[in-house]
Amino acid sequence: MSRPFVPPVESVQVPLGQFVLKVHSRCDLACDHCYVYEAADQSWRGRPKTISAEVIARTAQRIAEHAMSHGLDAVQVVLHGGEPLLAGRARLRQVITELEAALRGVCRLDLRIHTNGVLLDEGFCELFAEHGVRVGISLDGDRAANDRHRRYADGRSSYDKVTRAIGLLRGGRFRDLYAGLLCTIDIANDPLVVYESLMSLDPPRIDFLLPHATWDHPPVRAAAADTEYAGWLIAIFDRWLAEGRTARIRTFDSIVSTLGGGKSFTEALGLEPAALVVIETDGSYEQADSLKAAFDGAPQTGANVFDHALDVVTGHPGILARQQGAAGLCQTCQECPVVTSCGGGLYTHRHRTGSGFANPSVYCADLFKLITHISSRLPEEAAGGPAPATHAIDGRDFQALAAGYGDAAAMAPLIEAQHSLLRALLGGVYQAGTAPSAVPAAAQAELRAAWTVLTAIDREHPKALAATLSHPYVRVWAVRCLEQLRPAAFSRGDEDQTATVRGLAADLGHLGAIAAAAAAAAGMTATLKIPVIDGAVHLPALGRLQVGRDQAARSSGGAHETATVDVAADVVSIRIGESCWALATIDLLSGGGCPVATAQNGRSAEWQPVRMLTGPGIRVALEDTDPYRDCHQWRALPRLTDAEFARWQRHFAAAWEEIEREHAVYASALAAGLTTLMPLAAAQEGNEVSAAARHAFGAVAAALPDDPVTLALLLIHEFQHVKLGAVLDLYDLFDPADDRLFHAPWRADKRPLEGLLQGTYAHLAVTDFWHTRQRVTVGPAAEEAAQRFARWHAHTRDAVETLASSGSLTPLGTWFVDEMRQSVTP
Ligand code: SF4
Ligand code: SF4
Repeated sequence: MSRPFVPPVESVQVPLGQFVLKVHSRCDLACDHCYVYEAADQSWRGRPKTISAEVIARTAQRIAEHAMSHGLDAVQVVLHGGEPLLAGRARLRQVITELEAALRGVCRLDLRIHTNGVLLDEGFCELFAEHGVRVGISLDGDRAANDRHRRYADGRSSYDKVTRAIGLLRGGRFRDLYAGLLCTIDIANDPLVVYESLMSLDPPRIDFLLPHATWDHPPVRAAAADTEYAGWLIAIFDRWLAEGRTARIRTFDSIVSTLGGGKSFTEALGLEPAALVVIETDGSYEQADSLKAAFDGAPQTGANVFDHALDVVTGHPGILARQQGAAGLCQTCQECPVVTSCGGGLYTHRHRTGSGFANPSVYCADLFKLITHISSRLPEEAAGGPAPATHAIDGRDFQALAAGYGDAAAMAPLIEAQHSLLRALLGGVYQAGTAPSAVPAAAQAELRAAWTVLTAIDREHPKALAATLSHPYVRVWAVRCLEQLRPAAFSRGDEDQTATVRGLAADLGHLGAIAAAAAAAAGMTATLKIPVIDGAVHLPALGRLQVGRDQAARSSGGAHETATVDVAADVVSIRIGESCWALATIDLLSGGGCPVATAQNGRSAEWQPVRMLTGPGIRVALEDTDPYRDCHQWRALPRLTDAEFARWQRHFAAAWEEIEREHAVYASALAAGLTTLMPLAAAQEGNEVSAAARHAFGAVAAALPDDPVTLALLLIHEFQHVKLGAVLDLYDLFDPADDRLFHAPWRADKRPLEGLLQGTYAHLAVTDFWHTRQRVTVGPAAEEAAQRFARWHAHTRDAVETLASSGSLTPLGTWFVDEMRQSVTP
C-alpha cells in the first residue's frame, strides 16, 4: 500500500542526478543482513517482480524531461534490485535502450548495475560492454566473511559464483566494466583479512558499508560504548595509507577529500545535497533504499512515474531534508567539529522513534573517531620522511606537450620524474618484501643483498644506476611485485598459496638481476643470486643467458633454479649448480654477441644480447629477452632470429628517416625518450598492432608493419601515450574518482576518462601525421591521406569536446584539454 502523495513544501531544490531503477524486486540469495527483505519496510511483497515495459518507457521519459528542464549535463542510472540480473538479458536490454533513446541529445547517460554477481556471465557482460554499463558487485570479503551472511536460502555459499563473476570482469575485454566491490561491514570479520581478500580481486574501487541500523535498532556491538566499527575501519585505513593508497576506497577518499575542503563521494558522509531517487518496479518514486531500515513505509513518497514529474520528488520533505547541508542537521551535529566530513552520517542511521531524523548518527562515536584518526594521520604522513623530489615542467614546454608536441627539453623533467617514481617503487618493494613473514627468510636475505649492492652503486656511480633503472620493464616488475605483496596470501599455507609464494620469491629475486646489470654498467664488483626464469638468466637491458631447463630443477617440486652471478670489471661469471659460464663485461655492455665457454658438465647455453636499432641520432633497444616485457595489450613475440632483427633494423632506419624528414616536430622528443621497441605478434587479418603500457615508460610495442611509413606512424602514435602517461604521473588532469565510461568516436565500446584522454591525445598526432602526408604525397597516396586526415580530425575534435564537457577535469586538465583543442581547430 502506498501512502497518499505529500505535496511539496517548497519549490524545486537541487535537481535529481542519480536514479536507482529497480528492474527486479526478488533475489536469488537470502542474505540475512539484506535491507530489502529483512528490514522494517516490507513493501517488496506487493511489488511486481519485474519492471514492465510501461514503467520502463515512462521512467525513461521522466528522467529525460527532468534532465532537459534542469539543463543537466549527465545523469546516472543504477540498475538495481533485489537482484537485477533476474530480469534477464532481454528485459535489461530493453531498459538500457529505452534510457539511451530517451536521453540521446539531452544529456550524457552514466549506466551502472549493482548485482550480487551469481548470475553474471559472458552474455550479460557482452550486453553491458555494448552499452558501457559498469558493474558493481557485492562481496563481504574472503570466503568465511562472505559466507557469514551472503548465502542462498538453503544455506549454500555464494562465494565461488561471485568470485567467478569478478574473474570475468577483472581480466581481458570486460575490464573497463568493472566498477568495484561493495562490502557490508561485519565486525566479527578480521578487517585486514577482508581488505586483503578484496584487494586481491583487483577492484578499481571498494565501498565499505556500515550495516544499516537506527537508534531503535542499534548495530551489533560488544558493549554500548564501544567504537568497534571505527576500530575496524581504522585498521584498514592504516594499512591502506601505509601501502600508498593504491586503491580507491570511497569512505576514506571522502573523508580525506572533505578534510581538505573538497567534496564527499558518498551520501553516507559529508554535506553534499542528496540528489538520488529510487524508482520501484511498479513505477513508484521512493527515497533512498536504506530508509527501509527505519520503519515500514519510510522510503515512500506517494508519487510515481505515471502521475508525477520528477520535480515533485525534489520537493518531498524527506528529500529536501537531505539537501540543506549543516542546516538540516540536529543541534549536536551542527556544533560538531567534524561535521563537514561527517555530515551526520547516513540519513537512515539518525532515526529514532519520537525525534525522527533529528539526531546524530547511531554510529556517531565511530564516525567521530574515524574522522579524527584520519585527520591526525594525514599531517603525520605529510611530515614523515625526507621531502620527496619535486619535478615541474617549464610553462612553455608544458604548453607544447598539451598541444600534442614537446621536444627533448620538455621530455627532460618527465624522464627525471620517472626516475624518482621508480626509486620510490623500488623502495616500496624492498620494504614490503623484507617485512616480517612476507616471503621466506632465504628470499629476504637475497633481497637485502641486492639492495646493499644497489645502494653502493647509487653512492658511487649514480649515472650507471640511473641508466639501468631507465629500462622500461623495471617499473613493470616493481609494480607486479607490489601487487603480489599486497594480499598477504602467503601465510595461509594451501597449495595455491605455496605456488604464489614461490612466484613472488622468484619475482623479488629479480632485484638481484637489476643489481647485477647495474654493477656491470658501473664497473663494480658484486656477487648476487638471480632466479632462472623460463630457462634463462636475465640481466635487464643487457640480455639473457639461455641455458635451458635443468632436469634436477624440474623434479624439485617447482622451486625456481637460482644462478650465482659474479660481476667483475672485465668478466661476468654465471654459475648454476656445477655449470659456469664466463662473459666479457665489455661484450655485455656493447650489446654484442658473447662467445660463451661451454660449461664443465656440458650444459648448453647461449648469450642473447638486447640488440640495438639505430638511425641518425637515435639508438633504441629491440627488447625481446626481458621476462617482464609482456605487459602490453598484445602478446610479445619470442626472441627474434638474426634475419628478423635485420628486417626490423631496415624498417626502423627508414621510419626514422621519414620522421626526421616529414614529421620533425616529433623527432626530438622521440630521440630523447624512446628507449625501447618491443616486438609484438601480428594480429589476424594483417591489422596494425601497436601499444604502450603506462608502467613501461620509454617503450613502444609493435608488430613490424610491412612499410616503414606505417612504422613511423605507430611510433609517433604510441609515443604520445608514453608522454601523456608521464604527465599524468606528475599532475592530476581529471578527477580519478570519476569512473564513468565515455563514448570514443573511434571505438565501439565506451572508455573510462583516462582512456578517452589517452586516445584523444594520441590521435592529435595521428591527425597531424595524415595532415602532413596529405601535403607531401601525390596521387592516390595523397587522396588516402586526405581521407584519413578528415576522419581522424573529426574523431579527435569530437573527443576533445567530450573531455571538455565531462565535468571531471581539474583546472589544469581544463587548460590542457583547451590546448589540445587548439591543435585540432582549423
Ligand atoms: S544479494 Fe542483495 S538483494 Fe539479494 S538478498 Fe543479498 S543483500 Fe538482499
Ligand atoms: S560525528 Fe556525530 S555529532 Fe559529529 S556530525 Fe557526525 S554524527 Fe553528528
